Amino acid sequence: MYIIKLMICLLTTNQHMWIEKFKLCGGKLQSPITISSFKSIAVPLPALEIIGYHNYLPGKLQLRNNGHSVTMSIESNPSNKHLPCVFGAALPVNQEYEVDHLHFHWGAKNNRGSEHILNGVRYPMEMHIVHRNKAYLNLSDALNYEDGLVVLGIFFQLQEEDNRFLYPILNDIIDVQWLNKGTKLNIPITLASLLPHNTDIFYTYKGSLTTPPCNEVVTWIIFSAPVPISLVQLNKFRSLFNGDDVLTDNYRKLQDIGLRKVYIRRLNSYLITKHNGTIVNATNLDWFWH
Ligand SMILES: [Zn+2]
Repeated sequence: MYIIKLMICLLTTNQHMWIEKFKLCGGKLQSPITISSFKSIAVPLPALEIIGYHNYLPGKLQLRNNGHSVTMSIESNPSNKHLPCVFGAALPVNQEYEVDHLHFHWGAKNNRGSEHILNGVRYPMEMHIVHRNKAYLNLSDALNYEDGLVVLGIFFQLQEEDNRFLYPILNDIIDVQWLNKGTKLNIPITLASLLPHNTDIFYTYKGSLTTPPCNEVVTWIIFSAPVPISLVQLNKFRSLFNGDDVLTDNYRKLQDIGLRKVYIRRLNSYLITKHNGTIVNATNLDWFWH
């Protein structure tokens, strides 16, 4: 009964109730937000370094319908010593973030589904690749620290043809049509195949988990270039169930950006042209987030 109540509380249609049980959901650094390239601060940040993204993910990959999304979790065990990780960008120096899982947010209609809005566009789907700071033991430990997580946000845009890089996930998605169903991914997959071709330009800001308990521990990195998906493929996500109903529109409503800064990574050449040679010094980041 408690589990059923919790699930109802977690439904995106009841978002206004989250704060009753999860105080953090009413914080000042909540996600998602609307992002505008015009209002973002352009800086020549270092590239986001991605390690192990081009290798097939090791171990058993578990696809699961948790009633709020479909997740692909990446097993962390002693034989998987070298899971993919990220560093660089505006992340703290000498900190590496190891992949934990990925999941998706999508809409019932093509004009909604993504959590973040970019330049006024709400894409039909957004994928989140969640990484944990390797300084912390596990995901729940990392939720206690403001530098605990990095989430990569990737938008999906409709095109006529299938995106064949989604086949490993979509091949088995029918097996998790029902709430709490899980299955093993049968086709190997790399994380790089799920990223946009161009990862040079991204937005970064400090925010939160977009589901309860809404911890404000996430450095968001949102790529400006979307990844393609066909309508047939998107409809496979829309055919999942959450226990009561079809699982769609599993995105959180927009949160106040407040006093936060959103940065956009631009290459030096772009900034030099734009600012006649004077560019922001991004080597000393003390001033950066505050
Ligand atoms: Zn998410």
